[in-house]
Amino acid sequence: MGWKTLDDMELGGRTVLVRVDINVPVEDGRVTDATRIERIVPTITDILAAGGKPVLLAHFGRPKGKVVPDLSLKPLVPALQDALGRSVALIDSLEDAENGLSWDADVLLMENIRFHPGEEANDADLAGRLAALGDIYCNDAFSAAHRAHASTEALARRLPACAGRLMQAELSALEAALSKPERPVGAVVGGAKVSTKIELLENLVNRLDVLVIGGGMANTFLAALGADMGASLKEPDFYGTAKDILAQADKAGCRVILPVDGLVAREFAAGAAHEVIALGPDAKLGSDQMVLDAGPDSIALIEAAFDGLRTLIWNGPMGAFEIAPFDTATVAAARAAARQTRDGTLTSVAGGGDTVAALNQAGAAEDFTYISTAGGAFLEWMEGKDLPGVVALDDR
Ligand code: ADP
Ligand code: MG
Repeated sequence: MGWKTLDDMELGGRTVLVRVDINVPVEDGRVTDATRIERIVPTITDILAAGGKPVLLAHFGRPKGKVVPDLSLKPLVPALQDALGRSVALIDSLEDAENGLSWDADVLLMENIRFHPGEEANDADLAGRLAALGDIYCNDAFSAAHRAHASTEALARRLPACAGRLMQAELSALEAALSKPERPVGAVVGGAKVSTKIELLENLVNRLDVLVIGGGMANTFLAALGADMGASLKEPDFYGTAKDILAQADKAGCRVILPVDGLVAREFAAGAAHEVIALGPDAKLGSDQMVLDAGPDSIALIEAAFDGLRTLIWNGPMGAFEIAPFDTATVAAARAAARQTRDGTLTSVAGGGDTVAALNQAGAAEDFTYISTAGGAFLEWMEGKDLPGVVALDDR
């Protein structure tokens, strides 16, 4: 796929409509976590440095196509000014903008784009009205790219379009991990349930050399193979799916690694009494026992599987990492991947809400090549789906 970046555009004197994701948490009219705002700074700074005039388009919450005063972008203006070190002015309505953009600030911010019913409907009229306000479209909201909305999709087709810096970083990392990875390429897929990650697993087994399955979903795979997993989290309705995925992996030549031992406890609590139990198709746990993490032999197997990998994709923790010591396998595997990345032999890309938390907890996040904070869009990419907001940036 080909997409342009800000470097390919003539920005001087041009009005640039920039779709950003600054859907940040706000309490009592104040931004409590400005991470998403900080991440769009490079794009805005580069546009301003090139003499462009940025007009930001953004959503906030779910106003469902109506003006909801509580969901105004107004509280975000001070946080934007702080992050950018530039003046920012809010434009209250599309009508106001259509009466002429008044550049009494360095950066203009259009009011919550989801106040318009046409936004989520990917409406051509709304896209046309927005397009008339600017010369260039820049999408820096990868995390909104899995939705075909007027400001992410239809608008991109009406103006010369490019990716912003954050979108560019995200697309480059995901292409390096999945579209054209250096081989051998492996993945760790963990987390609670198979049911939420079926499409992801099906896509990955057809692209990878090695797949490490961990977390609660490994219990479902082991049970599907015949193990009695006791009180472990598992999904009996998906034993068939698990077996299908293993068959697909086999056919595609993807080696699947399941835990060969587990940390087993009788209660889901920090510091719960636990023991190491061997796992496999013949395993038989007590009816009150549950596997909350992978055991030491599994960790050794995973580290051996990482050895020699050139690319690693990670989604989902290997165990109930929120409660010690059931973070042990996640932390060990994360540190192994971090070490290889630091050594320069591995490209490592991770995403997923709990995954990011787990990698931070392991002190490994800094060393990973790229950590996606895009949530749903990251997962859809991993599932092999086309993201409408990305497809619309494709060179026409
Ligand atoms: P992500 O948000 O990164 O996509 P998931 O939401 O799929 O990850 O999974 C994370 C959750 O899975 C965590 O809350 C973790 O406690 C849980 N989990 C992982 N392994 C187990 C297990 N063996 N038993 C119970 N819960 C588990
Ligand atoms: Mg989660």
